[in-house]
Amino acid sequence: MAIEEMGFEARPVPGRQRTAIGIVGNEGRAEPARLSGLPGVAEVIHVTRPYRQVSREWCSEPTIIQLPGGVTIGGGSIVVMAGPCSIENEEQLLEAAVAVRDAGASMLRAGAFKPRSSPYAFQGLGLRGLEMLARVREETGLLIVTEAIDAEGVGAVADVADVIQVGARNMQNSSLLKRAGRAGKPVLLKRGMAATIQELLLAAEYIVAEGNPGVILCERGIRSFDPSTRYLFDLSAIGVVHALSHLPIIADPSHGTGRRDLVPAMARAAVAAGADGLLIEVHPHPEEALSDGGQTLDPAEFRQLMREARPIAEAIGRRIAEPTGVRI
Ligand code: PEP
Ligand code: MN
Repeated sequence: MAIEEMGFEARPVPGRQRTAIGIVGNEGRAEPARLSGLPGVAEVIHVTRPYRQVSREWCSEPTIIQLPGGVTIGGGSIVVMAGPCSIENEEQLLEAAVAVRDAGASMLRAGAFKPRSSPYAFQGLGLRGLEMLARVREETGLLIVTEAIDAEGVGAVADVADVIQVGARNMQNSSLLKRAGRAGKPVLLKRGMAATIQELLLAAEYIVAEGNPGVILCERGIRSFDPSTRYLFDLSAIGVVHALSHLPIIADPSHGTGRRDLVPAMARAAVAAGADGLLIEVHPHPEEALSDGGQTLDPAEFRQLMREARPIAEAIGRRIAEPTGVRI
C-alpha cells in the first residue's frame, strides 16, 4: 500500500527466513528513510545491479523451477535435456526421444522452428514439428523444450512446450522476451554469441519483469578469434552467473564446442563446475542430421556420457534428475 502510494510497484519475494518486498517502477533510488519507518520492515536493501529482479541482491536463495511430473531445475538436481537439433520426421523424433529417455534424460529438446545462420538452410518443420512433439510427449512422458523464434510464435510453442527456448540469435529481441514473459511457461534463455553476462542477465530481466519468474539461463559458447572450435565454451560463466543471480544456469557444450569429440568432456566439466543442467544434441544417426550433425552424439555416446556424469554430480553433492517415467 505505502509503496504504491509512493508510485512504485511492490513484488513479494518469499524466502525461508523472511519475506522480502521488492520494489520496481522507481527510476532513481526509492527513499530509504520512508521505507525503513514502515511497520514490519527490518532492513532496506538497495539493489545496485541494473538487472534487479534476477540479482542475488533481490533474492539470495536459488530459484527452483517446478515442472510437471515433479521435475525441478535449480537446487540439488541436474536436469538433462537432450534430442536432435531439428525435428526431421516423427520416426526420427520418437527414436531420439526413446534413446535419450532410456539413457536418463528427463527432457526432450528438439527444434521445430530453427533460427539458421543461412536463409537457404533447413528452417525446421514449424507447426507440424510442434504436433509431433505433442504426440511424442504423450508417448514417452518426456518434458519438452523447443524454441520460439518470434513473438508471434510464442503462443503455439507454449501450448506444447514445458519450457520455451529463446535462442542465442534472439537473446536481445526485446519483443520476443516480453512475449515469453507473458507465456505462462518457463523460458530457457541462451546467451548470445557476443553477449556479456550482464547483457544475458538484463535479457532475463525482460522476461521476469513481465511477471514470469521461471527463467533458466544457458551458456552455449561465445565468439572467439580461434576457429578450432565453433564457439568458445565459457565454463566460468556458470560460476559468474551463480554469484550474480539466483537463476539456474545450464550448459550446452554441443553448440559451445560444435565438435562431437569434445562434447562429453565439456559436459562432464560443466557438471563439475556447478551447472544446473545440460543441453546435449543427440540424433539416432548424427551423420544424417539435417542440422548440427557435427556436434551431435549418437545414442551410445550419450549413454556413456550419462554414466560418467552421475558420479561427478554425486561428488559435489548433487544428482542427475531421473526421468519421471510418468504419464503427464
Ligand atoms: C539450438 O539450440 O539448436 C540453437 C540454434 O542454439 P543457439 O541458439 O545456441 O545457436
Ligand atoms: Mn542445434
